[in-house]
Parts: sequence; structure tokens; C-alpha cells
Amino acid sequence: MKLYVSSDMEGVAGVCAWEQVDARTPHPEYDTFRRYYTHEVRSAIDGARAAEPCDVSVNDAHGPMRNLLLDELPADVRTIFGNRKPLSMVQNAEGFDGAFFVGYHGGIGDRDAVLAHTYTPSVVHAVRINGTTCSEATVNAGLLGHYGVPLLLVSGDRTTVEGIQASMPWVRGAIVKESIGNFACDSLVPAAAQRLIRREAEQAIAQRAAARPFRFEPPLELELDLVSTAQADVVATIPRFARSGARAVRFTCTDFPTLFKAFVAAWRMGALA
Ligand SMILES: [Zn+2]
Repeated sequence: MKLYVSSDMEGVAGVCAWEQVDARTPHPEYDTFRRYYTHEVRSAIDGARAAEPCDVSVNDAHGPMRNLLLDELPADVRTIFGNRKPLSMVQNAEGFDGAFFVGYHGGIGDRDAVLAHTYTPSVVHAVRINGTTCSEATVNAGLLGHYGVPLLLVSGDRTTVEGIQASMPWVRGAIVKESIGNFACDSLVPAAAQRLIRREAEQAIAQRAAARPFRFEPPLELELDLVSTAQADVVATIPRFARSGARAVRFTCTDFPTLFKAFVAAWRMGALA
């Protein structure tokens, strides 16, 4: 089968502080945690391949999107690497048979979710699609669903995993930690987290016939609450965005890739305000 892996870092076992996952102002902990992160991704791939032969692409979807230690991944895996990908965390996901979200985290506003945010926390205060509050995972799963790619596995803290399973009950979950607020966790150590992810990944592939693509039904409405009115001023200048409140904008369309690109444009433009 063809397996797509979108990997993030905040949901890796033991992660509970920005310094651990910040590639831009290297902190001694970052080098350690990018290794743990790489090994969690590797464990997911190994688990999947224990169930079935898999062609694998991994999209490094954290921060500058250049975190994975590539020489510690299997030699036949492809990597989608680097920033400003038009479809960001789910770039090049078309044509796959299933997807994993490894190291994912809670959405902005989630309680007991370490480092919770939804894309750019300095810009995005809330995201709703067709009235439903979304995390990165649900927005990304919506684009995968448009392509007919079902989400099969998520790893991260309990809030993240159970949040996804509430709307996608077929998704296998590897809960590697319990978040204690935003900056602390009660976590498995890396060896145990990697073992759990490997086991759940194997189960996820073995049970993949029960999974379904997750879709938002058109007509589609994206509503964004931004952090500042200045950001709303800027985002509202993007064609087809309407100002719906002092800090709120709305965008409507009929196909999910258009909505997803509008969402990406909004937080990239909003960051310039
Ligand atoms: Zn991240």
C-alpha cells in the first residue's frame, strides 16, 4: 500500500516546552528531541511494514519543516521537506491509500494539551469549518478526505488522540503522554512511546479496511477568529474573504482544496500584519 505520514513534534513523548521543538533558536534540548521525533516516525513506519509492505512518504510538518534526521529513516522512504509548501502539513498527499499523523498536538483552546495551537498561534485564535471547531488534525484530515485518503493512526497526548477519535472513531491512537496544562506532561519515555507507536501502527494497517475518508460536506464555510483586528484588516483584503467581526473573517467555497489554500493564505498573510 501507499502510506502518507504527516509528522509534527509537539506530540512527541516528553515534549512540553517550545525550546524542545524550536529549530530556529537552537537550544541544547532541540537536538535531543528531534532524535526522539525521528525515532517515533521510524517506529510508525516499521509498525506499518510489519502488517503490510508500504511505499512511504513522510511530510516533515513541524516549524521550518526541516527537523527529521533523514539518515535515520529507512533508505526507501521519501521525504517532503522544507517550508512554504502550498498545502503545508498535507502537501503531496494525493494518491495514497492511508495516512498517519505522528507527534500531533491539540488545537488552540484545547485544555490539557501541551503546546496546543492551530497552525500559527500568533495569528489564529479559532478555526471553524461548517460551524465545527477544528484542530490542525481535523483541517488536515479534511484535505486527505477530499483525496479519498483515510486517516489511520494518530500519536500524541490524550487530548489530541481522543479529540480525533471523537469525529473519526476508526483511527488507532497511540497516547504517549497525558498533558498537564500547556507546559507539562506525564509521559512515557522514548523507548516505550516508540514501542506503543509501532504496535498501534501495525494494528492501524491491519484494520485499514474499516477506515473511511473524513469529509466536510459542501457548501463549505471557513470562519477564522484572528488574534488582532490588524490581522483581520489584512486577511479581509484577500479576494472572497468577508469581514464577519472585528477580529473575524469568513470564506465560502464548494471544494476543500480551495478552502485549505484560503486557510493557508489567511495565516500567512495575517502574520504580515
Ligand atoms: Zn509543530
